Amino acid sequence: MFRSHTCGELRMSHVGSVVTLAGWIQTIRKFGAITFVDLRDRYGITQLVFNESLSGQLDNNPLGREFVLQVNGKVIERSNKNASIPTGDIEIEIQSFSILNKSVTPPFTIQDDTDGGDDLRMKFRYLDLRRNPVKKNLELRYAVNRSARNYLHEHQFMDIETPFLIKSTPEGARDFVVPSRMNAGQFYALPQSPQTFKQLLMVSGYDRYYQVVKCFRDEDLRADRQPEFTQIDCEMSFVEQEDILDMFEGLIKRIFKDVKGVEYTDQVERMTWEDAMWQYGNDKPDIRFGMQIHTLKKPASVYYNKTDQSALINDAGFAVFDGAESVLAITVPSGAAYTRKQLDELTEWVKRPQIGMKGLAYIRHNEDGTVKSSIDKFYSEERLKKIAETTKANKGDIILILAGAEERTRKAMSELRLELGEQLGLRKKDEFKLLWVLDFPLFEYSEDDNRWVARHHPFTSPKPSQISTMIENDPAIKDAANYLSHPYAQIKANAYDMVLNGNEIGGGSIRIYQRELQEKMFEALGMSKEEALHKFGFLLGAFEYGAPPHGGIAFGFDRLCAILGGSESIRDFIAFPKNNSGRDVMLDAPSSIDDVQLNELNLKINLS
Ligand code: ASP
Repeated sequence: MFRSHTCGELRMSHVGSVVTLAGWIQTIRKFGAITFVDLRDRYGITQLVFNESLSGQLDNNPLGREFVLQVNGKVIERSNKNASIPTGDIEIEIQSFSILNKSVTPPFTIQDDTDGGDDLRMKFRYLDLRRNPVKKNLELRYAVNRSARNYLHEHQFMDIETPFLIKSTPEGARDFVVPSRMNAGQFYALPQSPQTFKQLLMVSGYDRYYQVVKCFRDEDLRADRQPEFTQIDCEMSFVEQEDILDMFEGLIKRIFKDVKGVEYTDQVERMTWEDAMWQYGNDKPDIRFGMQIHTLKKPASVYYNKTDQSALINDAGFAVFDGAESVLAITVPSGAAYTRKQLDELTEWVKRPQIGMKGLAYIRHNEDGTVKSSIDKFYSEERLKKIAETTKANKGDIILILAGAEERTRKAMSELRLELGEQLGLRKKDEFKLLWVLDFPLFEYSEDDNRWVARHHPFTSPKPSQISTMIENDPAIKDAANYLSHPYAQIKANAYDMVLNGNEIGGGSIRIYQRELQEKMFEALGMSKEEALHKFGFLLGAFEYGAPPHGGIAFGFDRLCAILGGSESIRDFIAFPKNNSGRDVMLDAPSSIDDVQLNELNLKINLS
């Protein structure tokens, strides 16, 4: 028997028993002839005492950090108890020991607060994984996985594996490809998601499918993305949007309960995509706090069909606002107390290249009811008060205003709102707020190709009431400058995203399941009939054999874990992650392959 107990197990009730433990040496402390060792395994730390009688043996077999040690000894009560660890009441009086393996000095100390930088920790990830904080993250990940599986199993979902070596599955990113040795000159693609397979499973009658599955996307890695990541991927037949929202609200609530002990009893809020863009400036609003954006002016040509307040803004002789496409405002509660310095800092903040604004205007709504503004010169007090009214500013608040091109300004205002929320302590880590964002546009306009692209993916169905708009109209965009007046721009998708604290944690849609409509969709996306058949003949064919109405969703498993774990970074929740350039620094991958391998694959490298 290698061990009788783990290093996290022994308590006062074990005092007197003789035990065998095995683990890694965390620390060694010598007091004269007595040596104390902290022995660690996955379950905890136990203190070992080597008395004088063993000092000769220790001299011959010196111990070192991270050595693997097996010990035999008696559990005794500690005179100096350590309340900060569960085994802190006892220690083991060692009778015999054996060094199972030695260790060279680790490149960083393996403890909660390590001295190892990110790169070093990633290069020696197998050592990093011995650390408590990383272990806790993986335990949380496993807890989320288990909870999801239990819920889905209880609801008749079946876990079915789908292949990794497939043909391209467009989800808006580039494919990773794998050359085929047996089919010279041909390539597999790795799935961006199991999208088409789960739909085929619906055609096959497996009406509730799920998989906790790797997806591969060759994207330029923006902060905190991984080229391979995990989804909780689900699909259901004979459902409408409402059924999906209901089922998967249940899933997330169950995960909250199982993993965080949080009873999320509220109905998950819902918001249309248009309202999200209008009120929060992005499609994944953090609704833990209010501070909605007020649109004082917008170009007539934007998607959202809402009215603005341009009359209040225009023709005051202020060229910046007169010439701007959009003027957006946000009211900061009690912000009238901001000092000059604070306002200067906020102005610098919006001018940073990532935000890209030229400046920040403000209107103070003072406690005494007067208004004071950086644009006093152009706007009368009466007009400023009107703006304050429109932006729902109370006495003591400040209104911050950004102006510029619509897309950039809305994005900047959305960022500013989040920054202010952060500064004001309104984005609390232990508060969880879920939101469904609904009614996304079905299409997005691609300026580069002057055509429509699918906002979600090409298998998403339009709202039933808008199917005729799609069928009856020619998708061609004749007037690129006015693409928003094309009827396709108004078509909304039967698609939904689940948002948690300002992060998109899942997204899905009700699918197209008739061949004609799917063909029309491919045509709308600029695909010829031949191309559609070549790429998706299998799916179009399957739709002719009794495809049921179906829909689904996929959750970003890594992200969900990170948020539940209160972390910004998904890497912390992946055992062996890649770095920001998509490299595995531990394996040193990707790497070149030798000529023999290249020849077998009929490949030549042509680096120019
Ligand atoms: N396959 C989609 C995605 O990866 C999710 C879905 O539509 O179910 O985003």
